[in-house]
Amino acid sequence: MLNIFDLQKELVAAALPSGLEERQAEVIKKYAARYCDEMYTDGVGNLIFHKKGPGKKMMLVAHMDVIGFMANHIDERGFVRFLPVGGINPALSIGYPVVFENGVFGCVQPDEKAKPGSTALSKVEMHNMYIDIGARNKAEAEKLISVGMCATFCAEPVQIAGGNIMTPYADNLASCAVLLSAMSEITYPANDLYFVFSVQEEVGCRGAKMAANAIKPYAGIAVDLTRTGDSPAELDNERMVVRLGGGPTVKIRDNSAICDKPIVEHLRACAEKAGITYQDEIMILGGTDTGAMQRSYEGVLSGCISIPGRNIHSPGEIINLSDADNAAKLVVHAAMTEI
Ligand SMILES: [Zn+2]
Repeated sequence: MLNIFDLQKELVAAALPSGLEERQAEVIKKYAARYCDEMYTDGVGNLIFHKKGPGKKMMLVAHMDVIGFMANHIDERGFVRFLPVGGINPALSIGYPVVFENGVFGCVQPDEKAKPGSTALSKVEMHNMYIDIGARNKAEAEKLISVGMCATFCAEPVQIAGGNIMTPYADNLASCAVLLSAMSEITYPANDLYFVFSVQEEVGCRGAKMAANAIKPYAGIAVDLTRTGDSPAELDNERMVVRLGGGPTVKIRDNSAICDKPIVEHLRACAEKAGITYQDEIMILGGTDTGAMQRSYEGVLSGCISIPGRNIHSPGEIINLSDADNAAKLVVHAAMTEI
């Protein structure tokens, strides 16, 4: 199996936000091309790998776009205002280093610093924040970046305690790594497989819908992150039973979809047969490409395998490596077993 941590490092170094996925697509191509019969990119940039099998069409999708910041105004002093690309959480971004697509560094700041003990920072909104790129004035800033350019969180994945890794963009580059790792293990699939690395999920699950409309699969399985209910930061989420290190999940429901029973049962049966410990997942907040596939074509039987993740959409997302490895194993079994 391909090493998920190494893949994550390479993907994070390449990552750009929704609409600019070409760089991470190049990394994915480099690994995936050898494991499929056919490779193509569609009109919006979804990267698709076909691995032929005798059975029904199955689409396996992981979105390859990430959240980020798009410069939309540069003021006279050279400070950069931005729009979020996807679900940026202002409070979790303050003070954080970012890097623009051309390599220019900066730092996210709120207009007013809070006094100690103040709760003002938690109330900061995107339009009251800016990126400081160190320029002395507008002219100097405009030599470095231009309106429309995008930036991402600037950090490297690291291994931390408990077999966990901390990284920006586990959502969803870790799932891309899981799909790549699974592809490397699939020999003679029972189903006719389409691996899709989709674009623009973070801005409304746009790519997966177009891919499913074109592929017309019988079954669709997304791979993505899910929230957990096992840390103080997730107190708002205490009714989520998913925990880090408890195994990959079989999704039952999120805000985008109530998963179709045949897929839920297929995934559970595959996990049980392969001896993979899994968790049932109901994600209280957020949607995935699962719903986009389900509502495409004539209606696609859809479900999702998730990697449990803490602090999702922050620069310090935490996932467990064995959860990710076992998610890859579950993908392999789901793909190799006739649906
Ligand atoms: Zn995601």
